[in-house]
Amino acid sequence: LGCKDKTPTKTTLTPVNTQLEQRVDSVLALMHLNEKIGQLVQYNGRWDATGPSANKSDQYKLEKLKKGEVGSMLNITSVATTRETQKIVMEHSRLKIPLIFAYDVIHGYKTIFPIPLGESASWDLDIIQQSAAIAAKETAASGIHWTFAPMIDISRDARWGRIMEGAGEDTYLNSVIGVARIKGFQGEDLSLPHTIAACAKHFAGYGLAESGREYNTVNIGEHELHNAILPPFKAAANAGVATFMNAFNEIDGIPATGHKVLQRDLLKGNWNWNGFVVSDWGSIAEMQVHGYAEDKKQAAELALNAGSDMDMESFSYEGFLETLVNEGKVSIAHIDDAVRRVLRVKFELGLFDDPYKYCDETREKNDIYTTEHLEIARDVAKKSIVLLKNDSKLLPISKTVKSIAVIGPLADSKDEPLGNWRAKGEYNSAVSLLEGIKNAVSPSTKIYYEKGVALTIPTVKPGDNQFSHPLKFNNTDTWGIHAALEAAKKADIVVLAVGEDAYQSGEGRSQTNISFFGRQQDLIDAVYKVNKNVVVVLMNGRPMDLSAINDKIPSILECWFLGSESGHAIADVVFGDYNPSGKLPVSFPRHVGQEPLYYNHKNTGRPYNSKIVTYSGYTDTAKTALYPFGYGLSYTRFDYHNLSLNTSEISKDGKINLTVEVTNTGDVDGEEVIQLYIRDIAASVTRPIKELKGFKKIKFEAGETKTIAFTIDAEMLQFYTANKIWEVEPGTFHVWVGGDSATTLKSEFKVTE
Ligand code: BGC
Repeated sequence: LGCKDKTPTKTTLTPVNTQLEQRVDSVLALMHLNEKIGQLVQYNGRWDATGPSANKSDQYKLEKLKKGEVGSMLNITSVATTRETQKIVMEHSRLKIPLIFAYDVIHGYKTIFPIPLGESASWDLDIIQQSAAIAAKETAASGIHWTFAPMIDISRDARWGRIMEGAGEDTYLNSVIGVARIKGFQGEDLSLPHTIAACAKHFAGYGLAESGREYNTVNIGEHELHNAILPPFKAAANAGVATFMNAFNEIDGIPATGHKVLQRDLLKGNWNWNGFVVSDWGSIAEMQVHGYAEDKKQAAELALNAGSDMDMESFSYEGFLETLVNEGKVSIAHIDDAVRRVLRVKFELGLFDDPYKYCDETREKNDIYTTEHLEIARDVAKKSIVLLKNDSKLLPISKTVKSIAVIGPLADSKDEPLGNWRAKGEYNSAVSLLEGIKNAVSPSTKIYYEKGVALTIPTVKPGDNQFSHPLKFNNTDTWGIHAALEAAKKADIVVLAVGEDAYQSGEGRSQTNISFFGRQQDLIDAVYKVNKNVVVVLMNGRPMDLSAINDKIPSILECWFLGSESGHAIADVVFGDYNPSGKLPVSFPRHVGQEPLYYNHKNTGRPYNSKIVTYSGYTDTAKTALYPFGYGLSYTRFDYHNLSLNTSEISKDGKINLTVEVTNTGDVDGEEVIQLYIRDIAASVTRPIKELKGFKKIKFEAGETKTIAFTIDAEMLQFYTANKIWEVEPGTFHVWVGGDSATTLKSEFKVTE
């Protein structure tokens, strides 16, 4: 795979802290081999170690904790249990090395923010950082030190359920959003009381699972890996992310968990990153199933030697590392390096100074799910909404409209908006769309609510997640359609909430079909027949195939799963208190058969849609997206003009000042995401037809014109070339600026030697 990778961004790694390193070494010097290996073991903590339902495995874990042979626990989520578990180690183990407690805090802890894909549609790095900071504050208040987030896997395939967990298809967007999330979680300094360690995952390539099928093989060439997949991870390493998680997938025959070139050589070697790598759940032992390791023992050997530092729940390290060291198959230097990395993060968190530092019931009571957090969740949610279509300007709806029919299986749901990976988000705790609308309209507005159809049977129960919630779609239930039509007929306007079940996307939730499940399409068609004034509100975790509704429905609002304040946030946009400003972080296809679909693809030798029959398209569908990456409307319009460059030729390390004028031509204020795309026309390795290289989210008053400036520099132009290094190659470049990736406002320049 090559790993001479030099750049692509400046190294901002925290300088070596000699005092910290000395403290780490002083602990390491005291440790016996079993204790060292123990630091590399992570157990699931959904257990009842001392309680009445303690089973054999619980008792086994308890004994290991007492011996100091466990380094970390995951899924313990209360101060009381954290304290009780930490106490076992503090009171019984020889060296009293504190445990680090981890949990999947993906889009909020108890105050739930939009799913990461939805939040990424805000293109607002400040609010993204702020939401991660609030998640960290609530997580820390619960006794937890470490979240398994952000996911920065490039996801180009709407069939893959985990597309909901990241920032979508673009490399640059994933890089900057990933860094914003890391900064939010980790703050200025990990030792501060409201910060937690972050985890850049999944290293690497997981989002490119073949045919969008969960956990599937990834076959990706070296250049694509370095240019498209790795930069967000490099950016995370540079931002000082405390941990990485490797991945379930293999890449070109090598499981990511056993990938020495990626983990030991590139991440820890060339990138000089000093945090630790945790395996994915059981992924070390799974290398047997991949057909890469003969047995668990060899799996442990391959993983440790490849640079996987901590074993999440596969029991391979605790079972075999000692023997492997004694047999000379794993060096003590590698073990020490892994242990040092784990200890370093524990020191940075301040756990050696106070192992109970996050165990504070007062904070647990006062810092979680506060009014202030909910207000911010509403702000983030409204900024994550994308207006896809508003043909006859049905939106915004006047608050004094006479009547609204609120229809659809998701319209009064207080649970779906929380989405998957909802941490401690409580069952049925979100503000439903119906509630949001009721709270917004004038007392004289009549609201007719009808569910129409049910999406699933049975509905979700408290405590469910994607691993336990059985998804059974309701394909027969049409009894409510009649009542829905009566409501639609009576109303001036219909708000129709359709989309996906909260657990339709997420881990293990791949689909071959991305259109409406259950009888939702029948409901949409029937309602539209009786009332043409339909606003479709979509709630979903992946791009959907909207082809069956797009031609007729006049207004479509993409609302993802927006979290605790969903209904309020949607009402803010529906009634015009907030002018929508979100832009798609993923392409929406015309048909699932186009997937994987992404804007920054290569050109092929036959790209044109000309008179030749054999061009690289489809015979039954256009090859373009229905809604392209970066797209999103507003209640106003933005016009772009006077794109200009201060020079048309620079040297490889030169800079160009680009300016463009943007005018808000409508009569309301609004925000626009001004996007900069670049293409290297010919290179030693073919380059995408355009790539996002910068963006600015700017507020405009009605009628206002602003001149927006970008600096084009080597960082934007370089790539992983045929020389297997990051460098700028001379030649012609095209540059576009606009409100989405399909913009045609273009200029060009030359780079000379
Ligand atoms: C997922 C990870 C997650 C881990 C722990 C795995 O199944 O792939 O992303 O962090 O479980 O819950």
